[in-house]
Amino acid sequence: MFLLCCGWVVSGSELSNAGQTNNYVNLSSQSKYIQDNDFGIVDVLSLPESSWHENKLDNLNLGYSSRHYWIKVKFTVPDTSQSYFLEIAYPVLDSIKLYLMQQDEVITYAKLGDKQVFFDRPIQHHNYVIPVPTQVSGELLLYIKVASSSALQVPLRLWSRQKFYETDQINMLFLGAYFGLMSVMAIYNLLMYFSLRDKTLLYYVVYVSAIIAFYMSLSGLGFRYLWQNSLWWNDQSILFFLISAVLAGTLFIVRLLELRKNSKTLYYGCVFIALTGIILLFLSMYFSYSVMIRVIITYASIACLWGVITRTVRLFEGSHFSTYYSLAWNAALCGGIILAANKFNFIPSNWFTEHALTIGTSIEVACLSFAMAERINSERKKRFIAQAKSMSEIRKANQLLEVEVESRTRELQDAYDKLKHTSRIDELTQVFNRRSLNEALNTECLRAKRFGHSISLLMVDIDHFKKVNDTYGHQCGDKCLSQIANVLKCACTRAGDTVARYGGEEFCILLPECNEHDALELGEIIRKRTQATAVRFDDCAIKMTVSIGVTTGWGHDLEPHRLVKQADMALYCAKQHGRNQVSLGSTLDT
Ligand code: GH3
Ligand code: MG
Ligand code: MG
Repeated sequence: MFLLCCGWVVSGSELSNAGQTNNYVNLSSQSKYIQDNDFGIVDVLSLPESSWHENKLDNLNLGYSSRHYWIKVKFTVPDTSQSYFLEIAYPVLDSIKLYLMQQDEVITYAKLGDKQVFFDRPIQHHNYVIPVPTQVSGELLLYIKVASSSALQVPLRLWSRQKFYETDQINMLFLGAYFGLMSVMAIYNLLMYFSLRDKTLLYYVVYVSAIIAFYMSLSGLGFRYLWQNSLWWNDQSILFFLISAVLAGTLFIVRLLELRKNSKTLYYGCVFIALTGIILLFLSMYFSYSVMIRVIITYASIACLWGVITRTVRLFEGSHFSTYYSLAWNAALCGGIILAANKFNFIPSNWFTEHALTIGTSIEVACLSFAMAERINSERKKRFIAQAKSMSEIRKANQLLEVEVESRTRELQDAYDKLKHTSRIDELTQVFNRRSLNEALNTECLRAKRFGHSISLLMVDIDHFKKVNDTYGHQCGDKCLSQIANVLKCACTRAGDTVARYGGEEFCILLPECNEHDALELGEIIRKRTQATAVRFDDCAIKMTVSIGVTTGWGHDLEPHRLVKQADMALYCAKQHGRNQVSLGSTLDT
């Protein structure tokens, strides 16, 4: 709207009343026209003045028509000392026959139009420019026969040669800046795409490129600089680039506003527009330009309308990208409206209204680029948050894992300790088992040999134990075994002494660093305590005695098996001598 207002203000200040601007004489506002009925120039010259229609507007706009028109303008050259150019500032006209006459004599004839190769033009310019012969004075009559499959507009201007080139230079500078800006946007975002691989950027690049190309086709600059000899493509390019711009723009909106995720209706609408665009791209190659241009303009208008609906809906749904997008779109729309209003004579033609679309699209492209930067920023923020969240989840999972591992390790350690204990302890009596005794014997014998200590071994056997079993049962026997083991454990108070079950009702006590005397004494204590102990079972008090064989060894020949054998012999001796006694085995010689 801002642009529209500017258009009005600037346009008001630049035009004078007589159709003469500061730069050129606007001949369109003084022109007359007539629809052609296969007239030649001779027929037209003889037509009465009344058959001509007078154009009262600034621009001569004859709408879409497949017919030819004749246009007539009477004018005089303001200053005969200067050279003049006639310009038809509408480069998409198909065919133009121009007759400049003075007193019924043709002084200039030119055949122009975009159905002729570019280099046939008398002045190499993207608009149609014809030099007026110098030194002509008095009234001149200009007849133009014109036809176009596009909208038939004939903005006719008379320029002094100097003013024409001065103005053209400024225009070209402005267009250069415009194409420069747009190209930089396209290239920059293409590089961004290569780095970020976000398809939104790619659609944006295609959209901007299509707008550049479309504008080049429309302004005749493409024909002037790029495809001078390709007449077919010159028509086709306008259709092709317009559809491409709509197509890429639609796909861009879909990605920017994340329509697939946010709104299925808007998304499918855009998909439909995109698919139609692809079909139209193919059709434009087979159907005539005059048909296709109307279809495609309708298509582009519907796409624009859908764009308005999309952004409005998303804006109400709170998408902040829609704000930038709306801003961008409004700028382009205003540019388009101003240009259209200018072409349809609603507002006067001037530099601003002529370039409104370029200004609008420049602002649009810049705003869209900003919207995209915002989008990338917001995506990055989302990624950061997700990353931080997953990091904290991983940390939590690690902590849980650590606790689990710790608890499992503790369980394993407990199980291992238990297993170790079970493998070393006799289950019934809870003293060491035979395996532990063997280990302790080996170790202590080696230690005794190394340090020159003596080592004693007591072998304890319960007397007539079979009778206990036979009389009271095995359960009672087990209890008795356990009780005797307890007596043995309690008697051995020194650290390092080992009480072990040797097998059946026999026990061994290993006493490192213990001499014969002390060992005998301990044997005697055990014997007496056993005798004094009564095991209670089923109201019976069972009394038992033990026989003990004692042996003590030292020196280099000390061997575990020999020690055991000697203790066993001593025990045998105790049994032989009547049981319930302690016998000393034969000691090893030093
Ligand atoms: P001695 O005075 O000659 O040693 O006579 P004894 O009856 O004690 O000797 P013997 O070797 O004839 O019998 C040992 C008995 O010990 C036989 C067996 O039933 C019993 N015995 C061995 N181990 C266990 C055990 O774990 N539990 C029970 N209840 N009895 C056992
Ligand atoms: Mg025995
Ligand atoms: Mg026995």
